[in-house]
Amino acid sequence: MKLDIKKVTEKIKNKKISWIIILSYIVLLVYPLTSFSENLHSLEKNIMLLDLSRSSIIFIFDSVLLLFIIIFPLAFLLLLIMKRRLRVIRQMMVVVLILVILITPILGQSTFLKSLPERETPLVSKVFIITFDGTRADAFWKYANWIIQRKDQSVWARNLVCTYPTVTYPNHVSLVTGTWPQIHGTESNAREYRSVQFMLRVYREPRVVDVFDVAEDYDILTAVFTPASTLAGIIGGEKTRRIINVGHGHETMQAVINYINNNKAEIESKGFLAWIHLVDPDETLHQYGVDSIQYRSAIRAMADEVGSLYDAINSLGWDEDSVIIVTADHGAVGNRHYGVWPPLVAEIPFWMWGKPVKKGYELGGGRIIDIAPTVAFILGIPAPASSVGAVLYDAFEEDYVRSIRGSDVNLNKLAFESLNYAVWNEIKEIYFWGILTLTMIWIMTIEIIYLARVFKELAIEEKKVRRR
Ligand SMILES: [Zn+2]
Repeated sequence: MKLDIKKVTEKIKNKKISWIIILSYIVLLVYPLTSFSENLHSLEKNIMLLDLSRSSIIFIFDSVLLLFIIIFPLAFLLLLIMKRRLRVIRQMMVVVLILVILITPILGQSTFLKSLPERETPLVSKVFIITFDGTRADAFWKYANWIIQRKDQSVWARNLVCTYPTVTYPNHVSLVTGTWPQIHGTESNAREYRSVQFMLRVYREPRVVDVFDVAEDYDILTAVFTPASTLAGIIGGEKTRRIINVGHGHETMQAVINYINNNKAEIESKGFLAWIHLVDPDETLHQYGVDSIQYRSAIRAMADEVGSLYDAINSLGWDEDSVIIVTADHGAVGNRHYGVWPPLVAEIPFWMWGKPVKKGYELGGGRIIDIAPTVAFILGIPAPASSVGAVLYDAFEEDYVRSIRGSDVNLNKLAFESLNYAVWNEIKEIYFWGILTLTMIWIMTIEIIYLARVFKELAIEEKKVRRR
């Protein structure tokens, strides 16, 4: 009689945990589906939140994976030693098999070659992408005075989100390829210190093309200006000019201004795509922290450098034929951004100026991976083949785009289509990483519960033996 009651309570306990497990999967599967919206601004915000969820889930995945690799075989071995419960072992094998099946599709990802489609008429022929390394969105909108004063001449977003891992190389490669580090392959800085927590995230050269490669295919002049020489080497193709002996932001921008003045004729005939990397904010944050005067003044100074470029563009008479985009690769807390919970460091600023864009217009949000397809849209070239980002159609002046690309252009319709597609892509990613992570967590939990139970049984048996 006594034994029966024990069995019954155990069954109830089992049921409880099964329900919790089922519920956790239901929440994971259902919550991203609530992101669709009829309102463009909410849709832009929701996609940003989905991308943040994705980053957070991969962050948990990376942390849990280490635990899983240690605990799963250890607990499994203990179980084997303590009790030869073959039924349990068989169940475990099934779960492992399911995991393997789930993992296999990402390993087999490939890109295929397409023939070069005809170029559309560019909205402007010169695009300057400027990154303030390590600049938090909130700090940017407090201290980047030159830019803040020109909000009414531009499109801007309080923030976009960068991607995971929240460091320089992965995010710059995401910026130019329009896809996540887990797809383009550059998952760490070239010389980043290694941490076991992030053992999967290592430096590799990108395995997909970027918007500089595509621009080169269309014979647009491309150039990168950065002191990070390895990073310069993996962006663009053979013809990309790499100006890497530039130091701080001021020298970098001087190099840009000299370059455009010296290559005026070539730029005017071919068009121009440039990436300008201003490193001062990142340097000061690592040394003094994000609350320091040094960090604030670095941001202010970099905004003034944007002003110098703006003046140079105007004096060359290119103001009607250029777009300047200013953003960042990641934020920071204190004096770090590596190995930090992603939502704390993912908010980066966005400011875009030029004839084709709306004036004094605030976007609901966006992602760093949306910039490459947006640049491609401006230049009239295809987005990089592996890009999953959405063109920020909402940022453009429809009348202007129509005057160049034809009266049947409907930016609102295009925006909804690309954002809905982006939501589906995010949902797929969240399901993939979420299911893997949850499954690891539950396998470990069940293993530990089961181990505890076996220990208890063994202890009871031992007591019985001693009493005899
Ligand atoms: Zn950085």
